[in-house]
Amino acid sequence: MSNLLLKNVILDKSSTNILVRNGVFESLSAADSAKADSVLDCTNLAVLPAFYNAHTHSPMTLLRGYADDRELFDWLQNYIWPMEAKFNLEDIIAGTRLACLEMIKTGTVFAADMYWHFPEVARTITEMGLRCCAGPIFLDAFDDSLTDPQFEEAEKFYDSLSGFSDLLIPAIMPHSVYGAKESTLRKVSEMAERLQYPIQIHVAETEKEVKDCLAQTGLTPFQYLDSLGLLTEKTVTVHSVHMTEDDAELVKKRGAKIAHVPVSNMKLSSGAFRAGLFTDYLDSICLGTDGCSSNNNLSMIEEMKFASLLAKHSFECTQIFSSEVVFNFATINGASAYGFNGGKIEKGRPADCILVDTKSPFMTPGYDIVSDVVYSCDSSCIDTVICNGNILMQGGIIPGEAEIIKKANKSARRITEM
Ligand SMILES: [Zn+2]
Repeated sequence: MSNLLLKNVILDKSSTNILVRNGVFESLSAADSAKADSVLDCTNLAVLPAFYNAHTHSPMTLLRGYADDRELFDWLQNYIWPMEAKFNLEDIIAGTRLACLEMIKTGTVFAADMYWHFPEVARTITEMGLRCCAGPIFLDAFDDSLTDPQFEEAEKFYDSLSGFSDLLIPAIMPHSVYGAKESTLRKVSEMAERLQYPIQIHVAETEKEVKDCLAQTGLTPFQYLDSLGLLTEKTVTVHSVHMTEDDAELVKKRGAKIAHVPVSNMKLSSGAFRAGLFTDYLDSICLGTDGCSSNNNLSMIEEMKFASLLAKHSFECTQIFSSEVVFNFATINGASAYGFNGGKIEKGRPADCILVDTKSPFMTPGYDIVSDVVYSCDSSCIDTVICNGNILMQGGIIPGEAEIIKKANKSARRITEM
């Protein structure tokens, strides 16, 4: 792995040289004469941690703008799932590459991705140079014949991990409490206990989900998960919109993490995350975009702003979810939720960073760079994106962009014409 010198880069308002070696920040104050295989002139560019997307479904970029403005279950059952059934492997790879392109452009270098064909999705994301958390999905509530094959596929994936990039973090992904049978969730829990990988699951996205769970089990979705041994410090509960105060206390007691997904929750009118219940638990909240069809992009910059504004709006409080807090959601908290130590520009941490243009009108006059990134800037302010010490975008240019867009359009055409 080569080394890289970021020359004259702005870090905390001062110009410095940053040396990256073997994928980590080796020095934040390297000499001008420091030797490196590549030197980037970073004059007028400020370095910040890159973003980590704690929940998405990458191939759904192919359904961006398809069947907007519908109620969640109507949208899923009558529009999204029938279209997804038409995806072949080539489409899934084309959609995933489009997602990577979009993530890189918006400064994201990690995606916790939940989707069918997870080995191919994981391989595609890491081949594009991003980090990825992926793993088997368990979704068998509507079709018993899926249970055994899903466990077989999972074991096959875990047995093959040595063939994957180091950028992959394997995970266990039961879709939801309503998506898998109780016996399946119990078996998933045993698997999680044995493997100790992160667990990602949609929880309490809608009021209907909570009502159904109460009717069927006598427990809220969080209590139900806990009764199965699936609410642990390894668990990332996605959405977590409809929760009681007791649910919130249970989440904290178990040390579970929450992937807050504000744009998708607002677009699907699912409700507002109860930010006020978690002001003493901010380090365990991370941020995700959800899939492109319910967002409709993968911009963590937008997600941070919406997270902050939704909380302020819902709780009529200007101080809640400040720019600094939501910036941490999108960076260091995402890393710690999935078990790696990225998310800060510090010696010894993974060299995952973005270089932002301080001369952009959106960043001027520049009183507070985190405030500007959260509340003002868009992706046009991001000049360069680096993951694991490798440059994924420089000067706004990503190699192969035109081909990725062409193939995604071809797949979308094939699906819609079927
Ligand atoms: Zn989701």
